[in-house]
Amino acid sequence: MYDVLVVGGGAAGFYTSIHIAEKRPNTKIAILERGKDVLTKVKISGGGRCNVTHAEFNPADLSKNYPRGEKELLGPFHTYASGDTVGFFEERGVALKIEEDGRMFPVTNTSQTIIDCFLSEADRLGIQVKTLCSVTGIEQIKEEKEVIWKVAIGDGHMYCKKLMLASGSNPKIWKYVEGLGHTVVPPVPSLFTFNIKDRRIGDIPGVATHAEVRVLPKKNFGKNSLKSKFDASVLFSDGPLLITHWGMSGPAILKLSAWGARILEQYNYQFKIQVNWVPEYHQNGLLELFLKVKQVEKKTVLRTKVLDIPKRLWANLVQAAGIDDMTWPEVSKQQLTSLAEQLTAGIFQVNGKSTFKEEFVTAGGVDLKEINFKTYESKKLAGLYFAGEVINVDAITGGFNFQNAWTGGYIAAQAVVEDLNSNSQ
Ligand SMILES: Cc1cc2nc3c(=O)[nH]c(=O)nc-3n(C[C@H](O)[C@H](O)[C@H](O)COP(=O)(O)OP(=O)(O)OC[C@H]3O[C@@H](n4cnc5c(N)ncnc54)[C@H](O)[C@@H]3O)c2cc1C
Repeated sequence: MYDVLVVGGGAAGFYTSIHIAEKRPNTKIAILERGKDVLTKVKISGGGRCNVTHAEFNPADLSKNYPRGEKELLGPFHTYASGDTVGFFEERGVALKIEEDGRMFPVTNTSQTIIDCFLSEADRLGIQVKTLCSVTGIEQIKEEKEVIWKVAIGDGHMYCKKLMLASGSNPKIWKYVEGLGHTVVPPVPSLFTFNIKDRRIGDIPGVATHAEVRVLPKKNFGKNSLKSKFDASVLFSDGPLLITHWGMSGPAILKLSAWGARILEQYNYQFKIQVNWVPEYHQNGLLELFLKVKQVEKKTVLRTKVLDIPKRLWANLVQAAGIDDMTWPEVSKQQLTSLAEQLTAGIFQVNGKSTFKEEFVTAGGVDLKEINFKTYESKKLAGLYFAGEVINVDAITGGFNFQNAWTGGYIAAQAVVEDLNSNSQ
């Protein structure tokens, strides 16, 4: 009989176990990992550097980075957030650094530092780590005085007082959780780039600029479509946009993919976006500027880039407006209106999605309404806890997904310890 079994040897599983063992020495605890190695996602995360967290230390602002979980994580972040994560690693000799965009990495620039830290802590604290140990069933057994958990592994079983599910986006575990009476929100991909074939961007991969992007709502889209108000208000983002060989990427697009994960899946990843390449202008304001330029400039429009956007993008948009060989005095107001439209409201057809640098996150998981966010315990079944990607929380890129695992793991650990202590009194 174990005090605690943790299903999943990933970020959330290790963080929870370490905090339980640290706070309550001699707790009998084991991590059950189906793979032959633990922490495999930590290893490949952040391009092998592990983007551990984000330098956003205000709980309310931190929670705004979670398309699913924003409301529920606010309370937990008041208890444990990015600053606490930094403290945890620093106390263990792992210094973190902040990059210009706020992402935080180990100063060593390798995720192995994080893995070594977790493995040595697990060893120091006597946590059993069982690899090649796939959980194939979960059962709650009600004994006279207490509830215990029976966990199936291969041919055998293990028993525990408290069960922590930190199994990431594993469909089998979600099935077992549903079998126990929980609701699981169906998984859909989040964090992806847009596939776009369009002459305006086809020959300029690598060009990056700040842009505003809006997904155009599909009207009367099927019975189950979300309300158009939701479409229009949520599916908008701004930030750096990168033109790629296959379409568009960069934070502006990734944010849209995360916030729109569910509706874009409903659209079957076929939809239109509207791009403003000069967010400081609206179409009318830009037209006014062009009319002023027209009065003084004699050269071709192509050679007079009057806006702060990449030269090759300007050239392509001037061409799209059909005025690439015309001078400013020659172009009509109508043609300048067309150029202003290309710059502030260009429409692009998206046909499918691609994975972003192998990094993907799944939206979906155990329904947040069924979890007590003061303890990360199931509201339906006492003694069952969750942390990490197994719950219906996901974030935009930048270290926020790991922060969800650290926060959930820490808070669940405190609750498990409290529970074990009160039961043993
Ligand atoms: C390529 C890539 C790069 C990423 N980079 C970053 C980044 O830099 N920063 C960031 O914040 N986020 C990043 N993410 C997201 C981040 O990795 C996840 O959000 C995070 O790993 C979730 O942690 P977790 O412990 O909940 O799940 P996981 O890390 O997925 O761990 C779950 C573990 O449970 C095990 N398991 C599942 N089912 C069973 C079973 N039945 N029995 C036993 N074990 C089981 C799995 O094998 C796995 O080891 C990245 C994701 C990817 C794919």
